[in-house]
Amino acid sequence: LAAPEEDPDALLRRRDASFARVQEHYYAHPPQIERGWRHHLVDTRAQTYVDMVNNVTAVGHAHPRLVNAVRDQWALLNTNSRFHYEELSDFTSRLAELAPGPLDTVFLVNSGSEAVDLAIRLAQTFTGRRTILAVREAYHGWTVGADAVSSSIGDNPRALETRPDWVRLVESPHSYRGKYRGPGAAAGYLADVAAQLAALDDAGPDDAGLAGFIAEPVFGNAGGVMLPDGYLAGAYELVRERGGVCIADEVQVGYGRLGEYFWGSEQQGVIPDIITVAKAMGNGHPLGAVITTREIAERFAAEGSFFSSAGGSPVSARVGLTVLDIMRDEHLQENARIVGAHLAARLDELAKRFPTIGAVHGLGLYLGVELVRDPVTLEPAGAEAARICDALLAEGCIVQPTGDYKNVLKIKPPLCLTVEAADFFADALERVLSD
Ligand code: PMP
Repeated sequence: LAAPEEDPDALLRRRDASFARVQEHYYAHPPQIERGWRHHLVDTRAQTYVDMVNNVTAVGHAHPRLVNAVRDQWALLNTNSRFHYEELSDFTSRLAELAPGPLDTVFLVNSGSEAVDLAIRLAQTFTGRRTILAVREAYHGWTVGADAVSSSIGDNPRALETRPDWVRLVESPHSYRGKYRGPGAAAGYLADVAAQLAALDDAGPDDAGLAGFIAEPVFGNAGGVMLPDGYLAGAYELVRERGGVCIADEVQVGYGRLGEYFWGSEQQGVIPDIITVAKAMGNGHPLGAVITTREIAERFAAEGSFFSSAGGSPVSARVGLTVLDIMRDEHLQENARIVGAHLAARLDELAKRFPTIGAVHGLGLYLGVELVRDPVTLEPAGAEAARICDALLAEGCIVQPTGDYKNVLKIKPPLCLTVEAADFFADALERVLSD
């Protein structure tokens, strides 16, 4: 290990001097991370941490098989998808096989934001209309299009006032703290979707009509909140009745993380028209994809050709293939199911003893611990969540809050997390809550 810098804040000052500060870092006094291994991180003082936050590193940090595959592919060939090479077709056919039903056609890009942007353009080109319906409190990325459909005030306090005119927001279908709760909640939220769609019919020129609807199939940004049963099925039906296209943003919750399901949309029992995927797919290498039907993809030719310089490059495709091979050979989706269920049970048990825990959300290794000041009013415990995260850092666990009120501990570790590491985290959380 390298010797730590003498002044622990010197590197932070250098960071701030040249890296735009709006690109925030975790913690006021963050550890300087030097290496990663599986679900562990090690800092320059040789302190180790369990990484409970990095959902991108799905197969774990520094996976030797991935390292070797990337090194070999770089040494052999890296070019772009205008050239003809095997890795591209191998990867897109694997993705098409994994995708549900008629989704058999793949675009390869470099990030979740790019995938969402492209999905929006596909929906708009396919329908010849502009309006996208999106869910309040969601986050879909930073590019112009992906940002437009993002309305989380936790990420951008002015988000609700600044959406462009082609974006319409529906109620956040939040089964825990939303407007409608309990078994019949979906009906309330669907009435809101129907009202938004009816209002669209009365609005402006033809091209202002409905192009599509975008939602995460598990409410990731809100902290892994499951959507009310029947919500996506009902919303997709309403959207399709009006010729709209249904986009499932699987960037966070899809790709095996839920354990029981490879895609979040399976949990809701729906088949989207377009799926966006990124993060886990590249294990940290910039990879994103849009998976759709041949018909929707072909209609995009109206926009000319489509090209992404590094999207689907031999190295990117090799990374994507190797990540899928590792997930299959190491049974990581199954591990997410088993370890996720164990961790959820531990957290549920803590929730019974500590009233600060209002709810444990999520499935598999996408969990959220929602902290409240009052179990009746559900007043969010945002400041407490921040303090708990700081205390957990001292205990050797890296976890961060999310949601509009930053009061949900978002638990999304590498999928190779062990039962021992899950217990280490739950024990640490128990100590911190007791204190
Ligand atoms: N969609 C969702 C649901 C996301 O969570 C994110 C990133 N947090 C994105 C899209 C954007 O992905 P990226 O950061 O790779 O651009």
